Amino acid sequence: MYKRFIPDIYQESIYKINYEKLKKEGIKCILIDLDNTISSAKEVILDSKIKKLFDKLKKDFRLVIFSNNFPKRVSKFGNYYGVDIACLSLKPLRYKYKYILKKYKFKNHEIATIGDQLLTDIQGGNKMHFKTILVNPISDIDEKETWLNREIEKKLFIYFDKNNILKKGKYYD
Ligand SMILES: [Mg+2]
Repeated sequence: MYKRFIPDIYQESIYKINYEKLKKEGIKCILIDLDNTISSAKEVILDSKIKKLFDKLKKDFRLVIFSNNFPKRVSKFGNYYGVDIACLSLKPLRYKYKYILKKYKFKNHEIATIGDQLLTDIQGGNKMHFKTILVNPISDIDEKETWLNREIEKKLFIYFDKNNILKKGKYYD
């Protein structure tokens, strides 16, 4: 029951992920969450440091900003970073993930997802048997719709902590 909320990898931020290892493991596509993973949820923060990282990663991976948010917001990031986008993704539902598989013709085990939420990014990716990577949210301000997810997530973190499954700040690869 709790298994689908457990990430394969947990790192502090997108900068700390071992992308070389992902490449060696056969990952070819990375779906990257937008809000609170690469920008705070309420603002449009376009970061040259992220752009540099993405430019490097693009040589080895197909990068897609994979967001539940609206095209108007997500496209600003897609344009700036020069990567594909998927909007209104309805994570953790399978619908948009299946669209990605069909569009790019990757196998499930060739895809990794990065995100800051257990209930959307991690659960969704695990349901698809993608490699799931949790990072800390870059701000504690969320979209209104997220508050209930965060409440459930808090309880999950307490359960994980008690059972030595995952501890906040104890990162693993
Ligand atoms: Mg997010």
